[in-house]
Amino acid sequence: MSLLSSLFGGGGNAAASQTKPSHSDVRIHPDVDNGLGTARPGFTGGTLKCHCATDKVEVKVGDQVAHNHVCGCSKCWKPAGADFSQVAVVSRDKVKVTAHEEKLHVVDPTAAIQRHACKECGVHMYGRIENKDHPFYGLDFVHVELSPEKGWAPPEFAAFVSSIIESGVSPERMDKVRGRLDYLGLEPYDCLSPPLMDAIATHVAKSKSPEPA
Ligand SMILES: [Zn+2]
Ligand SMILES: [Zn+2]
Repeated sequence: MSLLSSLFGGGGNAAASQTKPSHSDVRIHPDVDNGLGTARPGFTGGTLKCHCATDKVEVKVGDQVAHNHVCGCSKCWKPAGADFSQVAVVSRDKVKVTAHEEKLHVVDPTAAIQRHACKECGVHMYGRIENKDHPFYGLDFVHVELSPEKGWAPPEFAAFVSSIIESGVSPERMDKVRGRLDYLGLEPYDCLSPPLMDAIATHVAKSKSPEPA
């Protein structure tokens, strides 16, 4: 359980700088562009709903999320117009499809994270890892903005920042993007955050060790 405890170990947000921003035109994600929300103490989750006008897919998440972050990779689902997704993890036993499961399909069955998306509106409802040897096995990936409930843990950092270039953002714009992320208190990384990279490396080291872990 050391991996899980390190993954759920939390981590605070750096205080946002108060200097006048030269990057205020940079949009990261609707949930962070006007400042980060705050986690409500005792918050126990909510229900994610897809963007269909009717017959919405609903997924109940029965716990607070951990390691919420904005992600620049090209695989995470992003709301229209956003260069970053917002994605967090939660124990897979806390994630349950409660309506219109028949509308879900796996976006890329060959990917490590099986992203279950609505076939009609395209929104990713949850990502699940089925490979028991994967460092993050046991955790599902969710986008909390799909829930009307307030009190989710806000993003703590920005992952895979350079990857937004692959999605069409000009490389010349990256200084402003990183400046904006710093200003918002979301430290930019070009991989995952140090605690998550440590968790991956720990898992790899343990699986290679000839001695019992
Ligand atoms: Zn839908
Ligand atoms: Zn991503």
